[in-house]
Amino acid sequence: MKATKIEWTEATWNPSVGCSKVTDGCKNCYAEIMAKRLQAMGACGYEDGFKFKILPERLSQPLSIRKPTKFFVNSMSDLFHKNMPFEFLDRIFEVIEKTPQHNYQILTKRESILKKYFLKRTAPKNVWLGVTVEHGGTKNRIDVLRSIETSVRFISIEPLIGDIGELNLKGIHWVIVGGESGVSARPMNSKWAVNIQKQCAEQKIAFFFKQWGTWGADGVRRNKKKNGSILLGREWKEEPVLS
Ligand code: SF4
Repeated sequence: MKATKIEWTEATWNPSVGCSKVTDGCKNCYAEIMAKRLQAMGACGYEDGFKFKILPERLSQPLSIRKPTKFFVNSMSDLFHKNMPFEFLDRIFEVIEKTPQHNYQILTKRESILKKYFLKRTAPKNVWLGVTVEHGGTKNRIDVLRSIETSVRFISIEPLIGDIGELNLKGIHWVIVGGESGVSARPMNSKWAVNIQKQCAEQKIAFFFKQWGTWGADGVRRNKKKNGSILLGREWKEEPVLS
């Protein structure tokens, strides 16, 4: 388990690592770049680079942490990857149930497997389920997410690489937006980001603007730190209200 620089969480837990690309948002996958770097460094768990694999030895990691922590589960993989055995997912959710002091944020781009898994199962109360949406053509994932019972539903619109258009946010508690980073990053048009912020405000949904990424609000390429995270003159770091 690791502390993380991902602003919208507190730590990461990766009981599986590796993945394969399924959608436009995967093109410049950060986890793939990191996995290859970790493989070159000889890091434990990354012997096969970005190839998907489960790591049962990491299952017990949250059990030893007493301090309530918000974990992003699988920053280096997708929990609903086609090669993830449902039996192993059951073991992950058992650990989650046994540690009610923590909250677990689970994000996927594989909504059909997510749906299949929860057809006959209930998400523990401390699970936040989310889907990634990267442009208007991937909005169907939100409908699938809405159909699953869970305490918090969130959407990560990162990297935002195309206009999202109109959003139905009924049943959604939190929206995160961010632009892409890295040498091959695709620009995020500021109008696309503003459109999402406005719809969140209208529908009273918590809005978190993570970053512009490699391309600034002015459409200029520069260091992502310099591009920052100011949208419409301010920072947006709202969090869902937990009942
Ligand atoms: S689903 Fe996520 S981890 Fe998997 S390839 Fe796509 S961006 Fe990378």
